[in-house]
Amino acid sequence: MRLHLQVGAATDIGQVRDHNEDGYLVDHDVGLIAVADGMGGHRGGEVASATALEALRVAFVAGAPIDEAVDVANDAVHEQSIADPNLRGMGTTLTAGSFDDEGHLVLGHVGDSRAYLARDGELERVTTDHSLVEELIQAGELTPDEAERDPRRSMITRALGLEPSVVVDIIELDLRDGDRLLLCSDGLTTMVGEDDIASLLAEEPDAATAADRLVDAANAAGGVDNITVVVIDVVGDAASPESESESESESESESESDERAAERPDGVAHEPADDAEPRTRRWFGLRR
Ligand code: MN
Repeated sequence: MRLHLQVGAATDIGQVRDHNEDGYLVDHDVGLIAVADGMGGHRGGEVASATALEALRVAFVAGAPIDEAVDVANDAVHEQSIADPNLRGMGTTLTAGSFDDEGHLVLGHVGDSRAYLARDGELERVTTDHSLVEELIQAGELTPDEAERDPRRSMITRALGLEPSVVVDIIELDLRDGDRLLLCSDGLTTMVGEDDIASLLAEEPDAATAADRLVDAANAAGGVDNITVVVIDVVGDAASPESESESESESESESESDERAAERPDGVAHEPADDAEPRTRRWFGLRR
């Protein structure tokens, strides 16, 4: 069964900030989706997130796998921060996923934006925050509940663009029909608890409406930060005769992956998965 994505996305300035330094990217043509949360004085934050997302997209479209595309995005932000004194020290989180039509997802992740997987009624966090409070949790010095209220919770320990190179977490998972993936900035997760996120995702079937409702919930809870949410529904094409795809040239569901693999110089990220490969694999994190 081929899989396609139904994506809803929303970004909002929130109730307190005077500009929105978050950004997101949804590119159906190449199966690339990302969230970035910028930081830095002047206009640095919004420049950092926008620069990272665009550099990521260009590199990925040109054939780079997700880890290399994130490296390219790091370089782009870092070089711009060196070149412009007004932008010195800017950086951004980046959580980016590439999808193929067999449901294989590769995430590249830096910072404290998050990816969650909603499957079979359970919501699981897929990414690990690169944050001070996460390190304190790992060290046994804070409980997760304490971390949620800790004033240091927005301090991140890894960001894109601060250094000439960055360590990128790579997380892979095989998605199935009915899965729902959430990418979000910390402006959602610091305002809305995971139980409430899970309930809302479970009760709202439409991806775009779910994204809007999550943003509304963060604003209702105070909206102290910019809020960005991308909801990705994985939908199986049970009945997908080739003839239908011919009449739906705008459809995101058909034929794109094969064409894309042929166009790409290396085709690595979008090669159709080997049928002999076990399909039971769960996600795992790699640090390099
Ligand atoms: Mn934020």
